[in-house]
Amino acid sequence: MPEGPSIVILKEQVQAFKGKKILQVSGNSKIDYQQLQNKTVTDFKSWGKHFLVCCKGVTLRVHFMLFGSYRINEKKETPVRLSLEFKNGEINFYACSLKIFYENPNEIYDWSGDVMNDTWNPSKAKKKLAEIPDALVADALLNQNIFAGVGNIIKNEVLWRIKVHPKTKVGDLPKKKLNELIYEARNYSFDFLKWKKAFVLKKHWCIHTKTICPRCNIPAHKEYVGKTNRRTFFCNNCQVLY
Ligand SMILES: [Zn+2]
Repeated sequence: MPEGPSIVILKEQVQAFKGKKILQVSGNSKIDYQQLQNKTVTDFKSWGKHFLVCCKGVTLRVHFMLFGSYRINEKKETPVRLSLEFKNGEINFYACSLKIFYENPNEIYDWSGDVMNDTWNPSKAKKKLAEIPDALVADALLNQNIFAGVGNIIKNEVLWRIKVHPKTKVGDLPKKKLNELIYEARNYSFDFLKWKKAFVLKKHWCIHTKTICPRCNIPAHKEYVGKTNRRTFFCNNCQVLY
């Protein structure tokens, strides 16, 4: 599943279509995509794992879910969910969840809740975390209402970096660790972005998918943790359960 930084990369890859008219829309999607025909793209935006194609009065929301993908100026073998054709190229979406909406995106999205956004607001995240003291930190990091854009890889790496056990409850975190959690959710996301662009992301994973903790040189643990029940990799030795 693409995490926030991957959507930022997509946004950068489609900049050539900004200001361009959608000449042809097609695909097997059930949404009323004809609404996009002949519309000019005013902007591409992202909020967490959502990718938005904004036109005057209408916006397409793309959510890649678990198996979604896209191709720019090329096609996959599989049936296309939605294809947007421009004079200078095309964007094709596969196996993703699509939605058309007519409201102003600024009224729907709180950009300051997106860890990759320039307006990211750590104090707001802190306030929201204070409201869920019993949640496990592993679940809290995946909560898109608090950390939009954070996915499972970022979750695992952030907790390892700050040496916090994934089963620690938010309310039990020392103040210093709470601040580190919020700081690294954004900071690691930008490392992710930089490494992904250079095709070296996996090489930099410290704990995600690892069998050995590189800090302790002892076996790491893999467990499906919390309400989100996602694959969690951690070290019982250096990641403290508060
Ligand atoms: Zn360790």
